[in-house]
Amino acid sequence: MIPIIPAGSDKPAPAAQVSPADNQQLWLKPGQISLPGSPPLSLYVHVPWCVRKCPYCDFNSHAAPGKQDSHDIPEDAYLDALRADLEQSLPLVWGRPVHTVFIGGGTPSLLSAAGMDRLLSDIRALLPLDADAEITMEANPGTFEAERFASYRASGINRLSIGIQSFNDQHLQSLGRIHGEREARAAIDIALTHFDNVNLDLMYALPGQSVEQCLRDLEAALSYGTTHLSLYHLTLEPNTLFAKFPPALPDEDLAYEMQDIIEARTAQAGYRHYETSAYAKPHREAKHNLNYWRFGDYLGIGAGAHGKLSFPHRVVRQMRHKHPATYMQQAMAGNAVQEAHDVAASDLPFEFMLNALRLTDGVPASSFHDYTGLPLHTIGKQLAAAEKKGLLEADPTMIKPTELGRRFLNDLQEMFLKD
Ligand code: SF4
Repeated sequence: MIPIIPAGSDKPAPAAQVSPADNQQLWLKPGQISLPGSPPLSLYVHVPWCVRKCPYCDFNSHAAPGKQDSHDIPEDAYLDALRADLEQSLPLVWGRPVHTVFIGGGTPSLLSAAGMDRLLSDIRALLPLDADAEITMEANPGTFEAERFASYRASGINRLSIGIQSFNDQHLQSLGRIHGEREARAAIDIALTHFDNVNLDLMYALPGQSVEQCLRDLEAALSYGTTHLSLYHLTLEPNTLFAKFPPALPDEDLAYEMQDIIEARTAQAGYRHYETSAYAKPHREAKHNLNYWRFGDYLGIGAGAHGKLSFPHRVVRQMRHKHPATYMQQAMAGNAVQEAHDVAASDLPFEFMLNALRLTDGVPASSFHDYTGLPLHTIGKQLAAAEKKGLLEADPTMIKPTELGRRFLNDLQEMFLKD
């Protein structure tokens, strides 16, 4: 049974209990908004284990049971649960083609080659996956074996996202990562042998990092010429070890200097800064992430996975049970979803803008109505005010941040918070 939270609730207090089979009928009822159609649909699959938990990480990731080399995760039971979860979700997305799949975590590269093959077979058997769907898998250095990655590719993974974070052993150690520079480079070599679409995740403003060290990391990443780079400013997230015992981080001015260098060097190297933290070679933007930022739909399966699904008169957010053991048990009993609520119409403008404003090119103004079901004049005043402050381009056909708007993104986003 899934607790359904009424729109506008702050607390997850269950208001009604319905079986998954009744969900579709419930979500199809009249509501406060009217969507002209369904946004593109993606699939997210969460694998909740890592070899070890990093001290800065606030994702739903858990240290894998067993020894480091045994990768001792309950793979079969988890794959059973994912399949059951997907089967239960089908009535909510009947007939809708799936354009992208993202297998994230956690560390999905802890799955065996056979396990990944089974997961992709299940997805293909149950969902109408586009023939040229982008299928990304996250992987971490320290879990790379050439044979396994060749098999992942053969099973249908066509994009890899590797959590490099740094090439500096000292910084990797301070981040609690299980790999060093050698493993990072070996992982990239293996990835590039089998994949032509590879993203490298790198972080900057690391504990004790100088601008020169940041540049050295960046140059190392650029030297591989991968199609995509994700460059994240390290932040201290609540409920992490770093939040409890904060390390000394570079000050704001230093971090800005790093950001400026990143901006200049990536542009010189042929990457376009198309989203707050994302840089891509021409036509190699991450399609899956673009769908999130454009406020598209995504079904999220796996422990703690979040989903966003649109119906003619509502936008629904779902969250699966977070702990892997609970999730597996509940998914097999037909209750993978722990919480679901329809987003209040008054919250939709901010949720839409929070995502869209991250994009350098912004989004067509018409997509506001297409994806929120609300007329554009709902945010007319805020659009005009942001334009007046020089934070948004003066183009009525687009919602597009200016350079100033991108630099002061939080201020710009906040302008769309409901009063
Ligand atoms: S490897 Fe990634 S997901 Fe896993 S604990 Fe570290 S940061 Fe989190």
